[in-house]
Amino acid sequence: MAFSCHIPYQKHPAIKHPVFIESFEQGWGIISTLSATQSVFTLFTNKENPGWQEFRKHENWPKILANTTLLKDFSLPHESINVKGGLANSSKAIAIAGQNWMAIGDAALAFDPLSSHGITNSLYTIQNAASAIENYINNSATALNEYAQNLNEIFDQYLKTKNQLYTNERRWPHSPFWQAATT
Ligand SMILES: Cc1cc2nc3c(=O)[nH]c(=O)nc-3n(C[C@H](O)[C@H](O)[C@H](O)COP(=O)(O)OP(=O)(O)OC[C@H]3O[C@@H](n4cnc5c(N)ncnc54)[C@H](O)[C@@H]3O)c2cc1C
Repeated sequence: MAFSCHIPYQKHPAIKHPVFIESFEQGWGIISTLSATQSVFTLFTNKENPGWQEFRKHENWPKILANTTLLKDFSLPHESINVKGGLANSSKAIAIAGQNWMAIGDAALAFDPLSSHGITNSLYTIQNAASAIENYINNSATALNEYAQNLNEIFDQYLKTKNQLYTNERRWPHSPFWQAATT
């Protein structure tokens, strides 16, 4: 799950790049600079984390992030900050293509935001779907099935890479979030 809010842009002496990511016991967070005045701050966790409900209110973020190195510097309580929650899990459609239809983008495959694959995957599936439609019209009856098979293989490979990335974080072996994130 993702919990996002907009915060005033804040220059941090230890952060050089417009995007900063840090993991913590209950999940991980990202600060992305949107403009000279605004950043978007998102925390990710999952329902295996017994404290996930606390992520919904920005006033709880200082407590949640108390043991982080840098994220805590951005979690100052501010009354007017609303947090928007949403799903951010990996997913694959039960069927990616059928008779005269095919799924593209997140509707076909959705990737964990840690991968940063979302937008490029959407563009990739669009391009592939267009080629498959062209082949189908040119009498390749299996073109849509081949498209689906290709995406299935990509997702299987992606899951292995994603799980490996989460496994690399070993500081909290008993954390329900990190345990669940690797499966
Ligand atoms: C918190 C979070 C952070 C992310 N960060 C990144 C990142 O840093 N980099 C990255 O590349 N990706 C990121 N992603 C993923 C990225 O946002 C998606 O992969 C991408 O937006 C998928 O594009 P899409 O066009 O397939 O689907 P969407 O962007 O979801 O577009 C689908 C559209 O269809 C509309 N719709 C749905 N149902 C209907 C209907 N029945 N009729 C008409 N319209 C309908 C929806 O309202 C929506 O506008 C992130 C995702 C989340 C949740």
